Amino acid sequence: MLKPGEDPDEMLDDDRVSTLLAPWVRPGEFELVRKAVYRFHGLVAKEWRRARVLLAGDAAHQMPPFAGQGMCSGIRDAANLAWKLSLVLGGEAGEALLDSYQLEREPHVRDIIELAIGMGRVVCTLDPEAARARDLEMSAQHRATGMAGVVPPPQPALGAGVRMESPAAGGIFPQPIVETAAGYERNDARLPSSGFALVTREASSIELPRFVTALSAVALGDSTCEWLDALGVESALVRPDRYVFGTGEPRRLVAELTRQLAPSRF
Ligand SMILES: Cc1cc2nc3c(=O)[nH]c(=O)nc-3n(C[C@H](O)[C@H](O)[C@H](O)COP(=O)(O)OP(=O)(O)OC[C@H]3O[C@@H](n4cnc5c(N)ncnc54)[C@H](O)[C@@H]3O)c2cc1C
Repeated sequence: MLKPGEDPDEMLDDDRVSTLLAPWVRPGEFELVRKAVYRFHGLVAKEWRRARVLLAGDAAHQMPPFAGQGMCSGIRDAANLAWKLSLVLGGEAGEALLDSYQLEREPHVRDIIELAIGMGRVVCTLDPEAARARDLEMSAQHRATGMAGVVPPPQPALGAGVRMESPAAGGIFPQPIVETAAGYERNDARLPSSGFALVTREASSIELPRFVTALSAVALGDSTCEWLDALGVESALVRPDRYVFGTGEPRRLVAELTRQLAPSRF
């Protein structure tokens, strides 16, 4: 962090960079690949879609790098948009489905930006007293929990959009690591690579749209069955971006999805 009075050009001098790195690596032990002084932002574009133009990634939002979430947020944008574009271009959903993109993604990315700004405040403390208090608190937390100030990553839910109001709707479908005969894999690898997945406890005979695949919760493993049990539901409809569309009775979930994708909804 540039402190008051420090000159950006001077800070980029190779010798100066080496001095800053000296506590960790000695000159000759590293190769300097890139150096930059830059200003970071917390920004969100007002309008993410106009007709055929859609903004994603840093064009739609920017954040300080402290949470390591900038690119992740862009990837989430792409995951959200890809299946919607596919359904609209395939004539299976109305074009207005694309308006749900910003409605869902903006509240999520705003939560992440707040997180990154908060983490920046922790890192950029200049007051030695405040820094000492912070370090003591983190050390105490480490001793108490075994985790060095690390809290589980937040998983903000999507804003209102393509979902059926029900337990877990708008949150991420669980991704436990499950043991298989071939080794370990995540639920993600067992869900269809594209389209929706209807995950049910009991085999269901209902007719499904082309873009919905039926999947057995039992085949996904105990933790998925336990998740359904804990919610008190018999099935979950999982979106292509692995967010939960809704949970409950399979026929109702599919009917609601079909209704929401119809051109008249938006
Ligand atoms: C120091 C730092 C650390 C970071 N660490 C992390 C991290 O740990 N984890 C993480 O997830 N994210 C991290 N990020 C954020 C991440 O780098 C960005 O969020 C990500 O690169 C944004 O990708 P993008 O494709 O949206 O935009 P960009 O990467 O900016 O890509 C846009 C591209 O468009 C090109 N372009 C611009 N104008 C035009 C034009 N008119 N015509 C053609 N091409 C054009 C640009 O040259 C560029 O190649 C970090 C960022 C910084 C600065």
